[in-house]
Amino acid sequence: MNQQLQKKATKMKSPKCNCELQPSILNDVISVQYCPESQGFWISSIDYEGWLRILPNWYGEEVTLPHQYMFEDFKPSAYDSKAGLCPECGFYLSRAKINIKRPFYVERCMNCGGIWFDNGEWEILEQLGLHTRIKEIFSTRWQAQVRHNQHEVTARVSLMEQLGEEIADYIFQLADILEDHPHGDAAATYLFRRWEKKRKKFPAKNPLKPEINN
Ligand SMILES: [Zn+2]
Repeated sequence: MNQQLQKKATKMKSPKCNCELQPSILNDVISVQYCPESQGFWISSIDYEGWLRILPNWYGEEVTLPHQYMFEDFKPSAYDSKAGLCPECGFYLSRAKINIKRPFYVERCMNCGGIWFDNGEWEILEQLGLHTRIKEIFSTRWQAQVRHNQHEVTARVSLMEQLGEEIADYIFQLADILEDHPHGDAAATYLFRRWEKKRKKFPAKNPLKPEINN
């Protein structure tokens, strides 16, 4: 009887298709439930937390925030767009967007804490150092940080396009120095004044505004 109950408890249905999940091992240490059809897998909260506890302190310290110029060759799994139910408790899986060139979603059950990874997602998260921080990814604070990073990257790319890489690089270096300098704003003011002075001397013509002849 006990054995029967145990057997029933380990049988879980894939959140992405009608498959039954198969027990498997990830990275030689983490017990996962693998879906042979979609090739995604489930990590229960107990197994994930247990794995985090045995990690050495130095592991997973470095995190790279994702942005839209990353992993150009990665193609999200066709199953990624499909919403699913938690294989353990039946709750709807919440989704957190990972904003790379072609974004994908990590799914997590907010009730039991289990996590679903579609094919290829774990590898990307591992490269970003985010595979140890799945809980954080679902916080609003983290999402705000990613958005901020996204704006920052966009601004840098735009500067590189407008000034060329060489000058843009000077600016980035200068910005890094001035950011930490107690009087960094004085330099910004100086640059701005120089630019203003020149602009007054040689005003740029606005093509949208016809010159008024009195
Ligand atoms: Zn659940």
